[in-house]
Amino acid sequence: MFDGSAGPQRGASGERCKIVLVSPYDLGRQPFALAEPAAWLARAGFEVACLDLSLQRLEPEVLAGARMVAVHVGMHTATRIAVGALPRIRRLAPDAHLCVYGLYAPMNEALLRGFGVHTVLGGECEPALLEAALAAREHREPPDAVPVVKLDKIGFVTPLRDGLPDLKRYAHLKLPGGRVKVSGFAEASRGCKHLCRHCPVVPVYQGRFRVIPVEVVLADIRQQAIMGAEHISFGDPDFFNGPTHALRVVRALHREFPRLTYDATIKIEHLVERADLLPELKRTGCLFVTSAAEAVDDRVLRFLAKNHTSVDFDRAVGLLRAAGIALAPTFVAFTPWTTLEGYLALLERVLALKLVAAVPPVQLSLRLLVPAGSYLFKLRGFHNMVGPFDDALLGFPWRHPDPRVDALQRKIQEFVARAGPEEPSRGAAFCEVWRMAHNAAGRAAPALDEADFGDEIPRLSEPWYCCAEPTNRQLAVL
Ligand code: SF4
Repeated sequence: MFDGSAGPQRGASGERCKIVLVSPYDLGRQPFALAEPAAWLARAGFEVACLDLSLQRLEPEVLAGARMVAVHVGMHTATRIAVGALPRIRRLAPDAHLCVYGLYAPMNEALLRGFGVHTVLGGECEPALLEAALAAREHREPPDAVPVVKLDKIGFVTPLRDGLPDLKRYAHLKLPGGRVKVSGFAEASRGCKHLCRHCPVVPVYQGRFRVIPVEVVLADIRQQAIMGAEHISFGDPDFFNGPTHALRVVRALHREFPRLTYDATIKIEHLVERADLLPELKRTGCLFVTSAAEAVDDRVLRFLAKNHTSVDFDRAVGLLRAAGIALAPTFVAFTPWTTLEGYLALLERVLALKLVAAVPPVQLSLRLLVPAGSYLFKLRGFHNMVGPFDDALLGFPWRHPDPRVDALQRKIQEFVARAGPEEPSRGAAFCEVWRMAHNAAGRAAPALDEADFGDEIPRLSEPWYCCAEPTNRQLAVL
C-alpha cells in the first residue's frame, strides 16, 4: 500500500514545486476527486492549486509555473470540457507535465495523447499521480507512459478542500416549499461490484470497489460541516455495494451531526434486496435516493444487464415511499432498442407512479452513450449497431432503425437545453415532452390537466446525469 507520505518536495533550485489540479465539471459538487489528490500532494510537500471550471476560469496566473497539471475526467460531460481546455492549458503552462485522470481517461487515451497528455490514469489514481508529480519535479519522464488502471488498495487521507471555491457556491439542496440548504459532497467508496453493460465504471473497475475508511469519510464530513454544510450528497457509484460500510458511515454521521441530512445513489436491485435497511437510512437523515432505473422495458434492461426488472422498479418506488425516503430515478431514455411506443410507456409509467415531480427533464432526453471499452460490445452483434469512434462525441455513434426516434430524442434534448441551467417546472416540461412524444408516434396526447404529478421531492440544484452535451456556459470558462 502506497500512502504518499514523503518529505517536502522542492526543485533543484530549492523552490517549491507547483502542481495544478483541474476539475472541468462534477455535477455542481465540490470535487472529492480534486480534494483527495490535493491532500496527497500537499502532504508530500508540493504546492497545490485547484481550479474548478464549474466556478472558475482557466486563470493564467494559477497555471503559470506549474510543473504538472492534472485534469480530472469523472464523467462524459467533463471529458468534453477537458478536451476543449487542454490546448489552452498547454499554452498557459507550456513546461508542465500534462496528466488526465479519472474514469473517462483510459478509455480516451489515444485522443488525450493527441492533445499532448503524457500520463493517463484510471482507477485508484492517487499513488500514480504522486509518482508523476515526483517525476515532474525532477524533470524526469513519468514512470508509466501507458494508461494506468490501478485498483490497488490505497491509504486514503482526509481530502484537502481549502483550495477549492467556497462550498456555498456549489449545488445546494432545494427542499419542497423553496427552502435551500448548503450541501457538502463526500464519497464513502469508489468503483462498483456490478457489471451493467452501459456503465463507464465497469471498464475501469471491472466489478470491484474500494471503500474509504469511515474515519476519513467522517473527517471529510466534519470539515464540510464547519464550512457550513447542512446536507451531504454521497457520490459513491452505489452506496449499497458495501451496506455494512454504508451503515457504519451514516450511523457515525448521524451520531455526530444529528441535524445533517444526506442523499445517496443506490441501485434498484439493492433497494429491493436490502429493503430492511431503508428505515435505518431514514432514521439517520436520508432525504432521497438516486437510482438508475434506466428503462421500464425488461428487454432493454436485459441488454443493459441491470439485473432488475420493470416490476422491481415499481417495488423500489413503494419500498422507499413506505420508508419515507424520496426516490429520484434516472433513465437512459433512448437506446437503439427503444421504440416510440416504448418511450411513451416510460412516460406513462413515470406518470402512473406519480414521479413526474421527481424526474428532472434532462432524464427524459438522455441517449445511450457508447464509450470506448464499453461492455455493450460484449452483446452479440452490438458492433454492427454503431459507427466508428467519434472524437467529437467521445463515443461510438449509433442511429436508431426508426428515424422518428432519433428525431424525437434531438427535439427533447434541444428543448431541455433551451431551458438552461434553471430547470423549468418539471410538470410543465413533462407535459411538453408528453406532447412531443405523442406527436412523433402519430397519436393524440391525452390531456394531463387532472393528472397527479406526485409530490415535489428534495433535490440538488444541479441534476444528476453522466452524459449530456456541455452547455455554452460550461465552455465559456476556457
Ligand atoms: S450502473 Fe450503477 S450499479 Fe451498474 S455498474 Fe454502474 S455504478 Fe454499478
